[in-house]
Amino acid sequence: PGTLYIVATPIGNLADITDRALKLLADVDLIACEDTRHTHKLLSAFSITNKTISLHDHNERQRQDYIGELLSQGKSIALVSDAGTPLISDPGFHIVRFCQENNHKVVPVPGACAAIAALSAAGLPTDRFSFEGFLPSKSGARKATLSALASEPRTMVFYDAPRRAIDTVQDICDTLGDNRQVVIARELTKTFETIVSDSAGALLQWLNSDANQLKGEMVLIIEGHKVDPNAIDDATIQTLKLLLKELP
Ligand code: SAM
Repeated sequence: PGTLYIVATPIGNLADITDRALKLLADVDLIACEDTRHTHKLLSAFSITNKTISLHDHNERQRQDYIGELLSQGKSIALVSDAGTPLISDPGFHIVRFCQENNHKVVPVPGACAAIAALSAAGLPTDRFSFEGFLPSKSGARKATLSALASEPRTMVFYDAPRRAIDTVQDICDTLGDNRQVVIARELTKTFETIVSDSAGALLQWLNSDANQLKGEMVLIIEGHKVDPNAIDDATIQTLKLLLKELP
C-alpha cells in the first residue's frame, strides 16, 4: 500500500508552513493540488520542484484510478489545497475515503486552518464549538441557516466573503438579534489582519463606516445562544396555559 499525506499549507503568511510539510512536499512522488498554479507559487517560494496534478471537486472521483494505481505501487502522494487544511471546506473527502477502503495509509500533516486560527483569537467560548462551513450567498437561504441555529448553544464558526459582510451581519441582526456577540476575523496572518468582536448591531455600523473591511478573506464567529436560567420554556408555558383553563 501507498501513503496519502494530507498536508496543510499557510493561509497567508508563508512562514506558517511547517518543516515537515516542506520536507514531504519535496520528497513525495506526486503532489495532488486543488489548483496547480496556486501550489506552484508556494513550491517556488521554497525552491521545491516536484510533480503536481490537479485534484478538485470536479475531477476528484476521476483521479481516483490514477492515484489508486500509484498508491498500489507503494508510492507516496501529498494532497494540498489552495490554503490551510485540505478537506476543511476544501476538496479531498472522496480520495481519503477511497484510500481507507483500499487500505492505503492516510497521514495528516497538520498546520494552518482559518477556522481554528480565528477561534483561537476570538475570545468566545472554545470548549465546544460548531464548524458550519460557508454561509449561503443568498439572503433567504442565509437567514434560514441562521434561524435554524438560533438556539445552538455552542460557538459557531462560518466561512464567508467579506464583500457580503454587511448583508450577512444584517441577517444576523434580523434572525438572532442585534445583541448577539459576533467576531469578524479578516485577513488572518496577512498584512491587514483584523479581529473585531462586538454585538451584531455595533458591527453592522462599523462595517458600514469602513469599506476596507469588505476586502480579502474572513471567518465569522457567532456566540452561542445563552440559556436564561430564569426563562420559562415553551413546553412549560403550554402546560401552565392548559392548567389555567381548568382552574375555577
Ligand atoms: N481549508 C481552508 C482552511 O483550512 O482554512 C479553508 C478553505 S475555504 C475554501 C476558504 C475560506 O477560508 C475563505 O473564504 C475564508 O472564509 C477562510 N479563510 C482562508 N484564509 C483566510 C485568512 N487568511 N483569513 C480569514 N479567513 C480565511
